[in-house]
Parts: sequence; structure tokens; C-alpha cells
Amino acid sequence: MDKFTKSSHVVLTSHREHVFKEVPRINWNEEDPKKRGPIIATISNKSHRNAIGTHSGSYTVYRALSIASGHFQKEHKPDLKDTHGTVRIGPHPSWFEKNRIVTMDPWGAEINEHFSDQIDKGLDIRPSVAITQARLKIPEIQEAIAKKRLTPDGNIISKEGDIKITKVAIEPVWFLPGIAERLKIDEGELRKILFQETGGMFPELVTRPDLKVLLPPIGSNTAYIFGDPKNLSNPNIELTCRVHDECNGSDVFGSDICTCRPYLMWGIEDAARTAQKGGAGIVIYFRKEGRALGEVTKFLVYNARKRQEGGDTADKYFYRTECVAGVVDARFQEFMPDHLHYFGIKKIHNLHSMSNMKYDAIVNSGIEVGNRLSIPKELVPDDAQVEIEAKKAAGYFTDDKVDDTNLDKVKGRDLD
Ligand SMILES: [Zn+2]
Repeated sequence: MDKFTKSSHVVLTSHREHVFKEVPRINWNEEDPKKRGPIIATISNKSHRNAIGTHSGSYTVYRALSIASGHFQKEHKPDLKDTHGTVRIGPHPSWFEKNRIVTMDPWGAEINEHFSDQIDKGLDIRPSVAITQARLKIPEIQEAIAKKRLTPDGNIISKEGDIKITKVAIEPVWFLPGIAERLKIDEGELRKILFQETGGMFPELVTRPDLKVLLPPIGSNTAYIFGDPKNLSNPNIELTCRVHDECNGSDVFGSDICTCRPYLMWGIEDAARTAQKGGAGIVIYFRKEGRALGEVTKFLVYNARKRQEGGDTADKYFYRTECVAGVVDARFQEFMPDHLHYFGIKKIHNLHSMSNMKYDAIVNSGIEVGNRLSIPKELVPDDAQVEIEAKKAAGYFTDDKVDDTNLDKVKGRDLD
């Protein structure tokens, strides 16, 4: 038997009898982590699994390629010594409220602390949250220091102008009954559509209704915390927050068709400033590129906007997206507040966002919002005027006076 044939023996866990009877059940909102039970999405022993999917989100596929190419040992078990978080988050009462958090595992950073007995017995339980610290070196922050909007204090901002932060990487862990409830649909219907629309990727969605947790093959999210993370949950301590959805072109490469990087940098600047005053700041970065429609769709829309009759104008901004993608937005902000509840946030004093969908989702999830801050005019790149004017006219929050009578005159650059 050659190596490939031997390793290609496939065991599906689409039958209940494949479940090892000692595998702990998941009791999602249970307060005691031991009673809640670990999420086990191991692929090394299928009978140990109590969840659908596997760890690492979309990177699962790269792991598979590493194994296929012979570079990665299929049976590798992670050595988690010294990997624990630099600070402890929670537990917060929000973790145990019914379906307050349904898209991540709040115990995901404390696998060794709570589930070491089961790990010792041979269950492959892995972290889905990791907490570390870093320094941010950002040109816009250096500029804010040069213009005296920020002052190094040797603590939050070093004398070199670096910002000290705690960062938390969060993998998606979906509690399907809670997701269905949030979307106001039947769980069975949700499972069927997830199964169909991923090309049948996870048969257990339809064959194993007893498995309630899915680790979907999507990107993880990252929270950047400014100041003491413990302060996030104290509603009496000023909190500045930006919940930012990925836009690689602007965030990383400085592409000027939108306001994403300027808005993100302004959020970081203000979060640092709040922390310097004894408050706290949090910027959460969600991997939802191009309104969760993806970058290919996004670039197609850019071309369609710039080639349409009359050029790229604010009045047709949302329309062109809908023509190409079928929807204007696929981000489902209803799930975004889960991450705020993970940190025990009860009040956001300064919310950096113009999006009503984000604001409504946060407020409807029980978090109080004080000030809403739109991006200052001087930070909007010329070619992004189309986006910003279209958003304002569509009812996005702004401090400015809204004039939607001349949207066809707000025009972006033509293609060369
Ligand atoms: Zn953008």
C-alpha cells in the first residue's frame, strides 16, 4: 500500500454511532467551563469530535496542502506550553446570558486552565482565542504626534511614538441554534443552506443535528486594546471604540477610493488618546473584505462604477454593488457585538462609525452608545468623496449637514 492510499482512508462522522461516548457535550451558555465543556474539532480522531468543521478557519485548506505535500505531520499535537494569554479576559456575565455570544468561544483562550484533565486523557482540545501584546508603529500616529494631537507619555505611547497594545485573535466558533435565533430562521433551514451554499463541504450540518457547533472556514478577527483591558467592562471608564471591517486595498496599501484606512487610523489615534486619559480603547478588525462580498466582487464594482454612463457618481454608489453582487452588503452586523460582549463591554462612550447597521446592532445587543463620531472631512481622500457622500445620503451617521440633491455631481476619478 503506498503512502497516499494509506492516508486517504476517509471516515465521515456523519453517523451518530461514530461518536465516542465519553466525549463531553457542549452546554453553550453554562457558567462553569467544565460543565460548558470543551469544543473539540480535532481531525486526528473523528470519534472525539463534538463540533463540525475544524480549527484555523480558512487556513485549514493550507494545512491540508502542507499535509498533502508531506511537509506537515498529520498527527501533530500542538505543544501549548507558555502560550497562555498575556492578560486574562473575563469571565463576564455576558458570557452566560442566553445566546448573547454565538459566534466565538469565550473560553477559547483558557483551554489548559479548564480542560487539562480531558487533554491528559488524550482529547485534542485546541485554543480558538489567543492574547498577546505588541507595539504599533504607524506613520499616521507619528504625524499626529508631530502635529501635537498626541503626546508621548512613556506608557501608552513611547517616546519613539509607538503605541503599546494588547491584541486578541479570535477564531469563529458558531453555536448554530444561536445563529439561527439571531437570523430569526429555523435551525434546520440554516443548516441546510450552509451545507448547500458551501458545495456540501460539511455533511454533518444536515446529518448530525446533535452537533450544535460549527467552526466555519472563514477568517478570524482581531481586537486591539489600548490601556488596561480590565477597564473595557467598566461603564464608568471612558471607552473609545472602532469596529472596522477589513479593506485590504486601503488598510494596507493606501488605495484612495475609500475612507477605510483614514477612518481606522483616526480610530487608533483616538483610542490611544482615551487610554492616555485613563480610559480605554478598542479597535476590532473583522475579516469581512468588501462588505463580506470579497475583493473580486469589490474590484468588479469599482470598474462598473467608473465605466457607467456619467462616470463614478455618488447617486449610483450602492446601486452598482447590488447589480454585481446581488446584495449591497453581506456583513451581518448582528453578530459583530458578540466580540464586544466577550470583553464585557456595557457602554461605548465614543463610537467611531458612520454605519447605522453597526450602531443598531450594538445598541440592540444591550450596549449603550454615547457619542457617535463620523470621519473628519480633512481625512477623506478626493476619490473617496463618492463613497462618503453616498453613505451620508443613504442615512449613515454624520456630523455634517446632509445634502442629497446633487449626488450625481459628486464624481470620482475616471479609469486611465
Ligand atoms: Zn475601503
